[in-house]
Amino acid sequence: MSRKKKFHLFENIEVVDTAAKGKSVAKSPDGRVVFLSNAVPGDIVDIRTGRKRKSYFEGKAVKFHHLSDKRVEPVCEHFGVCGGCKWQHMNYKDQLIYKQKEVTNNLLRIGHLDLPEITPIAACKSIYFYRNKMEFSFSDSRWLTEEELKSDIEFEDKNACGFHIPGMWDKILDIKKCHLQEDPSNTIRNSVKNFAIENEISFFNPRQRTGLLRTLMIRISSTGEIMVVVQFFKEDKTKRELLLNYLKETFAEITSLQYIINEKGNDSIYDQDILLFSGRDHIFEEMEGLTFKINAKSFYQTNSSQAYELYKIARDFANLTGDEIVYDLYTGTGTIAQFVASKAKKVIGVEAVPEAIEDAKENARLNGIDNTVFYDGDMAKVFTQEFIEQNGQPDLIITDPPRDGMHKKVVAQILNILPEKVVYISCNSATQARDLALMKEEYVIEKSQAVDMFPQTHHVENVVLLKRRK
Ligand code: SAH
Repeated sequence: MSRKKKFHLFENIEVVDTAAKGKSVAKSPDGRVVFLSNAVPGDIVDIRTGRKRKSYFEGKAVKFHHLSDKRVEPVCEHFGVCGGCKWQHMNYKDQLIYKQKEVTNNLLRIGHLDLPEITPIAACKSIYFYRNKMEFSFSDSRWLTEEELKSDIEFEDKNACGFHIPGMWDKILDIKKCHLQEDPSNTIRNSVKNFAIENEISFFNPRQRTGLLRTLMIRISSTGEIMVVVQFFKEDKTKRELLLNYLKETFAEITSLQYIINEKGNDSIYDQDILLFSGRDHIFEEMEGLTFKINAKSFYQTNSSQAYELYKIARDFANLTGDEIVYDLYTGTGTIAQFVASKAKKVIGVEAVPEAIEDAKENARLNGIDNTVFYDGDMAKVFTQEFIEQNGQPDLIITDPPRDGMHKKVVAQILNILPEKVVYISCNSATQARDLALMKEEYVIEKSQAVDMFPQTHHVENVVLLKRRK
C-alpha cells in the first residue's frame, strides 16, 4: 500500500479560469493546476482534491468563501448532477467571453497561427429551450442524488427517464424538467414515464438486460412538426400498442410516431429498423425557404435557428459569385451544400453515412436544386486526385468535420489541390488549430468567427476563412 497522501485540502484559493469539458481552474499552493467541477472563475474556495494525476489535480470546491460576480442562480433543479449544462451557474455574457477565449487560445497555442482581428463571438438569442432533438433513456434503477442517499426515505419507485450520469453507462438521472427543448418535450417524457408505471410497462435494466422501455427520442422541428421514437428492448405487442396508442391519442401534435425493437446490448439506433406506428416516417425542417426532410436517423444541426446563423457566416465568408465549383466536405444531409447552391456553379458534397447522402439527394430534389452532387464514403478514401478530376478543381472548399478534425490525408489533399479559399467550420477549435497549423504555409487566416450554438455548455463552434497566400 502506498503511504502517499491521496487527498489534499487547499484553502482560500481563487478560481482563475475555465478549462476543457466545462471545468474551471485554480492553482494549488505549489503552483500546480487544479481542475474543478463545481466552481466559477472569481470564486474563492477551499478545494478537496481527488487523487493526483501526473502534473495536475482534479478536485471539488468544498467551501465557498466568496462567490464570483460571474455567477447566476442555475435555473434547473438537476444542475450539478446532470452532465448536460455545466455552465448554468455562470452568466451568459461570461460564458461567451470564456468560449471566445478558448477558441483564440487554441488557435494561438496549439496552432501558433497568425490571427486577424477577431470578430466577437455570435451569441445565441435563445439561451434555453434551443434544441430540436433530445434523447432520453429509461432505467429501472434510477440514480439517487447525495441528498436522497443521506435521507432516511426508502425510495420505492426506482424507475427513471432522463440522462446518463456522466461517465456511467448504466446510471440514469430521472429528469422532471429539462430546459433544453421546448414543450411539449417535458410533458411527453413525463407522461410516458407515468403511463408506463401505471400500466406496468417495465423499464430497462442494462446490466440484467431486462425490461421493455429503453429510450425515447423527441424531435420538434421549426415547422412545428413533432417526431417521437420509442425504443423497446423486446416486442410485447400488447404493452407496446397500449403505450403508443396512449401517445397518439394524448398528443395530437405528434406528426410522426415510430418505434424500434432493439434486442442488442447498446442503444444505438443506426443499425435498427425504425417502424412506423402512426403519421409519417419523417418531419420537415425549414431554413431560408429550403426544406429538409428528416427521418429518425438523419443528422440535422440540433439548434436550428443558430445553425442558420452559422451557415450565413460560412456563406458570407465564402462570398460566392455564382461561377465557383464548391466542395462541401462532411456534408451530413447536404444542408450547407444546398444553402450555398444558388450562389455557386456546382456543389459537391461528401459524407460517410450513406443514409445521410440519400437524404441529401432527396432534399436537393425536393428543393428543386440541380447543381449539387453527393457522394458517400470515408473522406480520406473518397477525396482523391481521381475524384477531383471527375468533379472539377474546387474554387472553394467548405469543410465541417466531426470533433476529431480532418484526417491528415484530407488536409494533405487540400494542400495538393490548393483551392483559392477554404471555409473551415469546427466544433472543436483544438483539432481545428492542429489542422490549420498544417496549412499555414499556404494559407492566411483572413477571418475567424466563433459561434455559440450551445448556451449553458462549454461547447463552441468556430468558422475560419483561409485564403491562399500570394
Ligand atoms: N455539415 C453538416 C454535418 C457536419 S457533422 C451539417 O452542418 O449539418 C460532421 C459530419 O461528418 C457527420 O455527418 C459525419 O457523419 C461525417 N463524418 C465523420 N467522419 C467522416 C469521415 N471519415 N468521412 C466522411 N464523413 C465523415
